[in-house]
Amino acid sequence: MAILIVDDSKFSRSVTESILNLNGYHNTVPVASARQAFAYLRLDDVSEYRPDIDLIVMDIIMPEIDGMEACRIIKANTYYKDVPVIMITANTEVQRIEQAFAAGAMDYIPKPLHEIELLARVRSALKLKKEIDGRKAHEQQLLTLMRELEQAKEQFKRLCSIDGLTGIPNRRHFDEVLTKEWRRAKRNNQPLSLILLDIDCFKSYNDTYGHLSGDDCLKQVAQAISQVLARPGDLVARYGGEEFVTVLPATDNPGGLFMAEKMRCAITSLQIPHIDSVFSKILTASLGVATFLAADKSNLLLNPEELLRMADEALYKAKKAGRNRVCSC
Ligand code: GH3
Ligand code: MG
Ligand code: MG
Repeated sequence: MAILIVDDSKFSRSVTESILNLNGYHNTVPVASARQAFAYLRLDDVSEYRPDIDLIVMDIIMPEIDGMEACRIIKANTYYKDVPVIMITANTEVQRIEQAFAAGAMDYIPKPLHEIELLARVRSALKLKKEIDGRKAHEQQLLTLMRELEQAKEQFKRLCSIDGLTGIPNRRHFDEVLTKEWRRAKRNNQPLSLILLDIDCFKSYNDTYGHLSGDDCLKQVAQAISQVLARPGDLVARYGGEEFVTVLPATDNPGGLFMAEKMRCAITSLQIPHIDSVFSKILTASLGVATFLAADKSNLLLNPEELLRMADEALYKAKKAGRNRVCSC
């Protein structure tokens, strides 16, 4: 608990200091002028270090910079704005006292100094300082907690939109993106393509290699098809089971077919053996493409669900035509 005593009179300084020391306040710092006080408090110091001070007891009448001005300067410093200042004054006129409070003082003690009065005021000022410090620490804790809560919320949101197995966006996230992109396509009169991808003969893959190998296969496929996408607005998500869906904003049907073909090739390039596949000895996938043409006014009644249904129809066509291929509707 440190108390700074600012008084130009050597006698007053030592009276104040000895009263405080004799009553258990041993950490007192006496200085003879406002300038010395500023230097001790390092007001002009650019470094972070500031001494800890719990209370300032300051004489009002001092040469050069008086107590009022000194109080104003100290209080203007954010580091000391909550440190209580008690003014010592021989002049107790109401106007003078008002000025002291306006300068930021929390209390005043008339001269000549009486021990009981000084101690009572010091005690209550220190109590106030302790309460302010406690409140500040509490506020800091609350701020930290709020920041942590925000981070946890962000993390939760991220986790809610990611598929746990493959690490790519899940269907929930896809639904949100599709709704948003649908509106954007309509607003900008731009096409929007969807690709629905289904791994061929995946049931028999699981039966042959086991469910864990099946899971590993899904992860590899997710990675491979994600890498095909190049535009920032493109999104691939796990639609469910062994199905993946891709939304391609501002992409017409030939563009959608081109991307779907690239995805099909990315999967065959993985060269994942599938000896039990009826159609190929490596893992393959079938893909269906559907495109919403916002500029085509006859299309305006269509909704995202219908577009998905169309992509599913195209996928069915690809399956029926022999799998490992891309079809459009
Ligand atoms: P098709 O060529 O007609 O698509 O045949 P398919 O066997 O791929 O299709 P089907 O819908 O009959 O089977 C899908 C299989 O996908 C069923 C299930 O064993 C497997 N599957 C779905 N989700 C997962 C998963 O999370 N992990 C694993 N390992 N397998 C899954
Ligand atoms: Mg399926
Ligand atoms: Mg399948």
